[in-house]
Amino acid sequence: MTLPMNWDLDSIFAGGSGSPVLEEFLEKLTRDLEGVKQVGLPAPLTTGADEQQAAWIDAIQMLYDLQARTSQAGSFIGCLVAQDVKDDRALQLMAQVDDLASQLGTQWTQLSAAAARQPDTAWQKLVSTPPLEEVAFHLNEERKIARQKMSPELETLANELATNGYHAWDRLYGVVSGDKEVTWQGKPLSLGQLQNKFLDDPERSVREEAFELYESAWQELARVCAEALNHQAGFRLTLYRHRGWDSVLHEPLLHNRLQRESLEAMWAVVEAKSGKLLDYFAAKAGLFGVEKLRWFDVHAPVGEVKATLTYEEATDFVVDNFGRFHPDLADFARMAIDQRWIEAEDRPGKRAGGFCTGLPLSKESRIFMTFNNSYNSMLTLAHELGHSFHGWVMRDLPYGAQFYTMGVAETASTFNELVAREASYRATTDDRERLSLLGLKLSDAAGFLMNIRARFEFELAFFEQRAKKHLSVAELSELMLAAQQTAFKEGLAQYHPLFWASKLHFYITQAPFYNFPYTFGYLFSNGVYAQAMAEGPAFYDRYVALLRDTGSMTTEELARTHLGIDLTRPEFWATAVDRVLADVDEFGELVAKLS
Ligand SMILES: [Zn+2]
Repeated sequence: MTLPMNWDLDSIFAGGSGSPVLEEFLEKLTRDLEGVKQVGLPAPLTTGADEQQAAWIDAIQMLYDLQARTSQAGSFIGCLVAQDVKDDRALQLMAQVDDLASQLGTQWTQLSAAAARQPDTAWQKLVSTPPLEEVAFHLNEERKIARQKMSPELETLANELATNGYHAWDRLYGVVSGDKEVTWQGKPLSLGQLQNKFLDDPERSVREEAFELYESAWQELARVCAEALNHQAGFRLTLYRHRGWDSVLHEPLLHNRLQRESLEAMWAVVEAKSGKLLDYFAAKAGLFGVEKLRWFDVHAPVGEVKATLTYEEATDFVVDNFGRFHPDLADFARMAIDQRWIEAEDRPGKRAGGFCTGLPLSKESRIFMTFNNSYNSMLTLAHELGHSFHGWVMRDLPYGAQFYTMGVAETASTFNELVAREASYRATTDDRERLSLLGLKLSDAAGFLMNIRARFEFELAFFEQRAKKHLSVAELSELMLAAQQTAFKEGLAQYHPLFWASKLHFYITQAPFYNFPYTFGYLFSNGVYAQAMAEGPAFYDRYVALLRDTGSMTTEELARTHLGIDLTRPEFWATAVDRVLADVDEFGELVAKLS
């Protein structure tokens, strides 16, 4: 019997986008949300009497319940859209759920603002009462953030204006960059397709030509991008001024439950140690027969992975190797595969990419990917099974204790990926294959330690200038070039000054500074992996405890409690960076051996 490659969605809501069960579910959800709006906010906690508390507990539990149900429906519909991009009914349902989610967001904002107005003693009494004590961390956090904002009336006004102001710049950027097409060898290509050519093509002349075309296409869009970037940054700075927030890092640090000291400690270690990657650049330049790498060479493939895997072989490979760390991790993966949580078939009409989405009511998740028999798709499988495992170990926690930040979201996924990568490396004796596998790891290291750092440095410098003036295309490109030279340690012969235009992440208004959590997550999970390897199966229980607490602790508390480390100090970061740079010398030796 061959292993099924399609997921089971019918056990969640039977009947796909025409599901009558889903329709009924959404109708009830809509009615219940209306009911919450009718009831309004609970009365102030003036005396701390039981009946006052009971009204608050009801209101809070109701919002969590509505949110879990919205998330359940949203995840299911997201799966429908991904498995068939032409499913128009699913797209309509998605818009319907987006609208419910946004109404629910408004309810949370109002409740948090009301919480901010309650006296500390009465509030603390409330959140230490069951069943709220288990979600006290999240509730205290919402209240703390609300206290740092303007009055609820002003915040509501700012939020509503942002839809057609702040967030509209992001939309405009999406339209302008999405519509742009170039002609490549007589055929139209989107900028995304062109980018893949200069990143992945093994032929250097192809990469060079693609990169030049890419830069000239962005040059044509640069003035519109500069307007979008200047104005959304201006909006953010104005809002922060009214809230009394003096740093542009205040909001992203809050989102990531991270202290500034930890971020600074991490970057200081990266700054001090990433120069080691210049040896990797030099070895790679030698392979390409050039003096110094250019921008489009940094992530270019080297060596060759010949082996192909069937889906069955890939699943066996990851399950076996998870089992070497701990049998429970292997058992979980086997269960997810056998119970058809994974959509892996390679067929037209599916969305690109991979994701894992949680179903809080079913206490399950679903993984979407396209398995194409390559090494990379085996890694994607391992990676997504990590996200799924993270959700699995948290499944019995109250919904309000399951929200984790972007910085720790990749812990379990990167962990699994590292297990699979190291196992593949051990399994091969072919030097060209080893070179390819090491090249992939070091290409990641350059991405996280240099490219992402350049984005962070650019944004800091940009916001500092933006507080004083509107920046021109040339000024933005100058700032970007300087940031890239710093982060890449002057190690390249050519950079990408228009990166501020070409990188979508600078325009994501929902998540400011959409960069440092990547480097944080990468190094954090490498540090966790290093501890796991040092301690073996005995580490498993601490690993699970750490994942379970990702929704109930600040990042510093998480690291202190479960790993015994202080993120504000350089030691942990130094160990993690050393670990990811340990392959540089071996890469150089392999290059020397092969040439
Ligand atoms: Zn991931």
